[in-house]
Amino acid sequence: MPDYHALSVDDVQQNLGTGRSGLSTAEAEERLRRYGKNILREEARETRLQVFLRQFKSILIIILIVAAAVSFAVDEPLDAAAILIIVFLNAILGFTQEWQAGEAIAALKKLLVQRAVVIRDGERREIDAPGIVPGDLAVVEMGERVPADIYLIEATSLQVDEAPLTGESAPVDKAPGSLPPETPLAERSNMIFAGTTVVNGHGRGYVVATGMQTEFGLIAGLSQQVEDETTPLARQMDRLGRDLGLIALGIAAIAVVIGLLQQRELLEMFLVGVSLAVAVIPEGLPAVVTLTLALGVKNMMQRNCLIRHLPASETLGAVSVICTDKTGTLTRNEMTVVRVWTPEAEVEVTGAGYIPEGEFILDGAPIDPLADPGLRRFLQTVLICNHASLGHGEEGWRIFGTPTEGALVVAAAKAGLSREDLPEPVKEFSFNSTRKRMTVICPGREGGGYIACVKGAPEVLLERSTLMLRDGSAVPLTDDLRREVLLAIEGYASQGLRVLGAACRPLSTAADWTPEAVEDDLVFLGFAGIVDPPRPEAAEAISLCRSAGIDVIMITGDNPLTASAIASVLGLSSEGALTGADIESLSDDELAERLRTTNVLSRVTAEHKLRVVDLLSRDRKVIAMTGDGVNDAPALKKASIGIAMGIKGTDAARESSDMVLVDDNFASIVAGVEEGRREYDNIARFTRYLLSSNVGEIVAIVGGLLLGLPLILIPVQILWINLVTDGFTALALGLEPAERDVMQRRPRDPEEPILNRNAYLVILLLGAWLGLLTLHAFLGVYEVDLDRARTMAFTGLVIFEVYNVLNFRSFRFPLYRIGFFSNPALILAILGTLALQAVVVYVPPMQIFLGTAPLTLADWGLLAILGLPVLIGGEVYKVIRLRAGRASRAAG
Ligand code: ATP
Repeated sequence: MPDYHALSVDDVQQNLGTGRSGLSTAEAEERLRRYGKNILREEARETRLQVFLRQFKSILIIILIVAAAVSFAVDEPLDAAAILIIVFLNAILGFTQEWQAGEAIAALKKLLVQRAVVIRDGERREIDAPGIVPGDLAVVEMGERVPADIYLIEATSLQVDEAPLTGESAPVDKAPGSLPPETPLAERSNMIFAGTTVVNGHGRGYVVATGMQTEFGLIAGLSQQVEDETTPLARQMDRLGRDLGLIALGIAAIAVVIGLLQQRELLEMFLVGVSLAVAVIPEGLPAVVTLTLALGVKNMMQRNCLIRHLPASETLGAVSVICTDKTGTLTRNEMTVVRVWTPEAEVEVTGAGYIPEGEFILDGAPIDPLADPGLRRFLQTVLICNHASLGHGEEGWRIFGTPTEGALVVAAAKAGLSREDLPEPVKEFSFNSTRKRMTVICPGREGGGYIACVKGAPEVLLERSTLMLRDGSAVPLTDDLRREVLLAIEGYASQGLRVLGAACRPLSTAADWTPEAVEDDLVFLGFAGIVDPPRPEAAEAISLCRSAGIDVIMITGDNPLTASAIASVLGLSSEGALTGADIESLSDDELAERLRTTNVLSRVTAEHKLRVVDLLSRDRKVIAMTGDGVNDAPALKKASIGIAMGIKGTDAARESSDMVLVDDNFASIVAGVEEGRREYDNIARFTRYLLSSNVGEIVAIVGGLLLGLPLILIPVQILWINLVTDGFTALALGLEPAERDVMQRRPRDPEEPILNRNAYLVILLLGAWLGLLTLHAFLGVYEVDLDRARTMAFTGLVIFEVYNVLNFRSFRFPLYRIGFFSNPALILAILGTLALQAVVVYVPPMQIFLGTAPLTLADWGLLAILGLPVLIGGEVYKVIRLRAGRASRAAG
């Protein structure tokens, strides 16, 4: 590959076989076949074999393999084989669940592809970045990630963060012009590189390398790091597993000692020890948790919440404050200029959406806006100082760029103005939320010199203006005039209109312009009132947040009055609203106090956002914060869940976020919270369910031991229950629909463990009950036939668990309230479990492996009746508790 940075534009074009109107679609397709996709080498995903082998890496499996070996050594080959088969089955089960979870996440990653703008067939197109080929003419804007290595042919105030490539943390200036061949990578200012981010300005240029051929691809390895993240819940589960492992060893050791004191045989005691170890550990739990989380991520995607980091899906359910942008999240971000104020006139603008058809109405009659010098100047200024453009595609008129700027382009187009009629800018000072303004400088029309065109928040411009254009000439802005203009601005804002002002300043000669020098002494031209209707579903979502104990804080860069007007339409109180200036003047403690009660923050910059998250998190809140700009990245990182906008978000924001809001819609965040809560509830449910089953097994085995009985359940039977039958029902419990009042409860305390004291009590009580029942089932027949007695205990436990799983469908509501059939997966799992048990009891090869003997119909009937009180007890308890709760609420 030639040293592109040393070539002239013509040479680059020739080398790459491209030109000013980009490649043709056909050529691009051909090149895509030739050069391959613009992607870095796929992250090496674990192979199926690796995932499968990993299933054997657990203490339990090792215990079992030893048990199998001992059984084999003492001439019990069938036992040994049975244990090994179960171990294998466990591995297959774990493997399938983990693989499926991996697939679900891989599918989501595919949805996260970067988009990029290129010129093809002479037209601007937005395509998936992997489709970019060498020779493409690419366009980059502030906030975007550079999609490939690009030789610049145009750049306006372009600055790039090259830290991922060179380690340089300060933004680097970029501009076209060839450089000496020996220029090192970090100084190639005429090139921008894949993997870096545009932090200022915009530019365009020819793609010289894609995929692994880019500088970023060449330092391979960088991109291959897969972050292996565990969620807090997964960590809790790991800890639980470890604790249970230790408990298992303890209980097994005690049991063996008791047995030996009872002078039982060593071999028998060995089996008892293994049975107990197997009984204590909920073998199926890790796989069920993994799969439930993965399915949850998929469900969240359906609700337009794309989870980038797995822990976010869990944290989302615990959110206690949502700090949300206004524009696009609470409002539709479909902007239309409806009014323009200039010092001489105030006109209404008709028309809808982005269709460039409409009239300018003055005092009830249409006028020619270009015949009015003040209006013409205003429209020209906002059009020059603008990155958006208007296009007509198959789906009608659309804009490229931000809706605020798009609305201004449309208004100018309604007046018959188009960009081509205006001079080309030579310099730009970009917009950001701190400056709240942007400026472009272009050659003046008349009499040479230059003119700075400024647009931004009108009160910011007014402060920097000393003159105002009236009757064709600039008049001084007296205090009275300023007050008049401010009143007019407030009048617009208090109607919920977004207000954008314009100003200009003639500059005599070219100089080394700086924003401070240029954006001062301005001539104020006027402002436009833009409607951005609130999203209809946002009001409902906000009221849902209120009932769910979640505070909503609107954080916007917009005018305080506009913000309050929109807030009131959405049902958010603007009492105690704060502005950026307030935030700056308050101390940390004062601000923290005010944040407890406020719902609206306006004229806020990215730095303020960071301070707000910081203070909120001191209150132990779980904060979800939305953001879209480059500057929002630190606040997004700091929040418990950083949420980037899928549509209007920059790549920079997206990369710092935990979650991408696909449709930018506030209501989707709330839907995600609901899904998160459901998921967490279900994990709590099946964890308790599985553990109560383990307690049941232990009570039965230890009870039998104390009564001097033979081993009640052999290891394979316990494994079968823990892995197969309980596994199915637990998984189905994970699919339980959300409780009806899931959004009427306060958020859970993120510090509270998934198993609190109450949970342990329930697990122990229900477990003990199940264990005693199992013991009872065994006691009835063991003197006649040991195998049948074990089969009774084994089948009994499976049946009791079926009753028990119904208990765990809800901690509070009895079955008649949640509906017996409302979780069809569970019904299927129960039927499947019972059918499997029948197979195990009656099919001869299974009888050999699991040591079972056939049962009579009466046996089944007896077990069914024996277990019924488990369910009835649970139901009666819930009804009493609900009544008591209602009575105490009525009394209170
Ligand atoms: P939100 O923070 O809710 O998304 P916002 O878009 O108003 O709202 P910012 O993007 O921080 O927030 O913009 C702050 C202010 O800067 C706006 O209210 C507007 O007056 C001005 N502004 C916004 N976009 C531009 C632009 N492209 N050029 C000049 N000024 C702008």
